[in-house]
Amino acid sequence: MKTYGHFIGGEHVAGKSDRFSDVYEPMTGEVRARVALAGTAELRAAVENARAAQPGWAATNPQRRARVMMKFIDLLHRNYDELAELLAREHGKTVPDARGDIQRGLEVCEFALGAPHLMKGEYTEGAGPGIDIYSMRQPLGVVAGITPFNFPAMIPMWKFAPAIVCGNAFILKPSERDPGVPMRLAELMIEAGLPAGILNVVNGDKEAVDAILDDPDIKAVGFVGSTPIAEYVYSRATASGKRAQCFGGAKNHMIIMPDADLDQTVDALIGAGYGSAGERCMAVSVAVPVGEETANRLMEKLIPRVESLKIGPSTDPSADFGPVVTRAHLDKIKDYVEIGIEEGATLAVDGRGFTMQGYENGFYMGGCLFDNVTKDMRIYKEEIFGPVLSVVRAKSFHEGLALANDHEYGNGVAIFTRDGDAARDFAAQVDVGMVGINVPIPVPIAYYTFGGWKRSAFGDLNQHGPDAIRFYTKTKTVTSRWPSGVKDGAEFVIPTMR
Ligand code: NAD
Repeated sequence: MKTYGHFIGGEHVAGKSDRFSDVYEPMTGEVRARVALAGTAELRAAVENARAAQPGWAATNPQRRARVMMKFIDLLHRNYDELAELLAREHGKTVPDARGDIQRGLEVCEFALGAPHLMKGEYTEGAGPGIDIYSMRQPLGVVAGITPFNFPAMIPMWKFAPAIVCGNAFILKPSERDPGVPMRLAELMIEAGLPAGILNVVNGDKEAVDAILDDPDIKAVGFVGSTPIAEYVYSRATASGKRAQCFGGAKNHMIIMPDADLDQTVDALIGAGYGSAGERCMAVSVAVPVGEETANRLMEKLIPRVESLKIGPSTDPSADFGPVVTRAHLDKIKDYVEIGIEEGATLAVDGRGFTMQGYENGFYMGGCLFDNVTKDMRIYKEEIFGPVLSVVRAKSFHEGLALANDHEYGNGVAIFTRDGDAARDFAAQVDVGMVGINVPIPVPIAYYTFGGWKRSAFGDLNQHGPDAIRFYTKTKTVTSRWPSGVKDGAEFVIPTMR
């Protein structure tokens, strides 16, 4: 069986803590590898290695740094199939969906190619008598990223690509549930010409995370994961004086107005609700039809679609979605379905009994659909992160808007309508960070920024886009005045004390 250690100084190194975690293949339910869990001393060794390498990298001109990223993008294209297969086998999502995971990370690497331009400072000539002012952006030094299981290619790239082109050294602590792709990405960065030590991968769990948060030489932490951990990471990182941006969980609503094209809406809803088995922070988990008639028509169309979802192993390209990440997560999702029934919601489609023929030990379940969900229910308030969609019936546009606004999470939201006025008001008034108008999963493109509001994010500045350059650099402003120089010309008279 394969054992993942760490990747430090451009090399694979074995774990020393003697603690390991199993890495599953969700489609078969088998353990396919084990991963070392780093202790504080191992994390510290990675930081020292990164610290030694970083000044040379920061002194490398920014175009050369961008060229490494250019070569890395080329290597991603060459290794696309292998990476997507590895990703699907460790995560459980289908291979075509795994390709999308890589693509959305690759696009941020493309954006990072512009760092030489984006890092340029400002200049004011003559800000005062003989005074010029200019600013420059400098890297922070050693920075770290702690990433979740659900996008093991995209989110590590969102973090390390902008940080590295800005001249920082990066310590990546990926999810211990699917570390294979992050390790491959680090190998490919070295193959692309990155100096050893500029991207180190330290595998681990809470112990490695705490070591990152307390390490005095790590200047910034980017985190993505569940809200309780995001909040914890934010408070501990900032308490030790680090810059931190910590993105958390979600409960994304889709408001469906009476004038929406329901066939299009249902297509969008089924993909956004059940794609990747609902394990996306931008998945739609709450549908809000406005008006009883809209709700009844929606349910009529939605029920057969949920019942006929095609669940398959990750390697079946025709499957709508594959297994969830672990058996523990599968049990947690099923527990939520039970809670929903006890709370009085109507379980219109029950996918809990699904088993995959030939893959009986895999972590599969079918799609579940709840109707008549209300605001006070746990299945509404909490993130389930599985193939479970809740329908909350609203009487009016304003009631739908208020639902999204009052929810503690504010990651993504969508409205489906033909009415430009309703859509425009919705976009202006909704208290959520990313909004889709007839677009179910409004993940902003790489040159915009990604980030939720309320308890979906802690800290300021979003991920990728121009914010990422700001997050991974610090601004220095220089005010300069020069005494009068030699330009008055030469003196031919012998110098005397006049
Ligand atoms: P998670 O919070 O369990 O883990 C995230 C990271 O934190 C992992 O690297 C993990 O090793 C580490 N971790 C876990 N427990 C810890 C602890 N007690 N102390 C310190 N570190 C700990 O999240 P997950 O299950 O891997 O990912 C799913 C979650 O991520 C969902 O809530 C989803 O909404 C969220 N997510 C958010 C975004 C976003 O941008 N807002 C994007 C993707 C996923």
